[in-house]
Amino acid sequence: MLPFLVDLVYPKRCAGCGSRGAWACALCLEDVPLFEQPWCARCGVPNGLRCVCRELDPALDAVRSVGPFAGWLRGAIVAFKYGDETDRADHLAELLAERAREFGPDAILVPMPLHPARLRQRGYNQSALLAERVAALLGWTSSPLVRRARDTPHQVGLGADERRSNVAEAFALAERAPDLHGDTIVLIDDVITTGSSLAACAAPLRAAGSGRIVAATLARDI
Ligand SMILES: [Zn+2]
Ligand SMILES: [Zn+2]
Repeated sequence: MLPFLVDLVYPKRCAGCGSRGAWACALCLEDVPLFEQPWCARCGVPNGLRCVCRELDPALDAVRSVGPFAGWLRGAIVAFKYGDETDRADHLAELLAERAREFGPDAILVPMPLHPARLRQRGYNQSALLAERVAALLGWTSSPLVRRARDTPHQVGLGADERRSNVAEAFALAERAPDLHGDTIVLIDDVITTGSSLAACAAPLRAAGSGRIVAATLARDI
């Protein structure tokens, strides 16, 4: 379909204020800007904001996020994840690809898996949609190498230690996952807080011989 027809049929709406014409309008972007360099080499939080390396799980070598979990970005993630607005995937993936690119020149993108019950409920894994699009943009591979070994209660409202024990051994290598001969793994997720879920997801990959394990997320909860 021609681009202007696509816009007519699927109008873009700003995730912050609902105005038409863009996935994030200029005013909302000004309100909650994307993270900009210089930022901390490990946690990816821009200089001037509080570095969160101390809270970041040691299993993650580095993290890059598009912006803070606030304003239009928070609205976009909620709509994408819970509101069936999968049309937002392309826009969000473009932003995420710009962050993940730094971990190249080549890497395997691994989406944070959803438990099968939640996948059935939602109909899609938002992290997998992102990972596939980011892979296409960067010419990398996206592969669901990790699966949920058991369901875990929501992490919201839990402290760092509780989060860690909540997700311990929650993940296992997917069947038919290849040996990882020192490959760089970029875990893909929507929001990072302490990184305990991502770190738990990293454990079976490290055991399978991966190299560096990093994460690219849409938002950082700060
Ligand atoms: Zn707006
Ligand atoms: Zn830091």
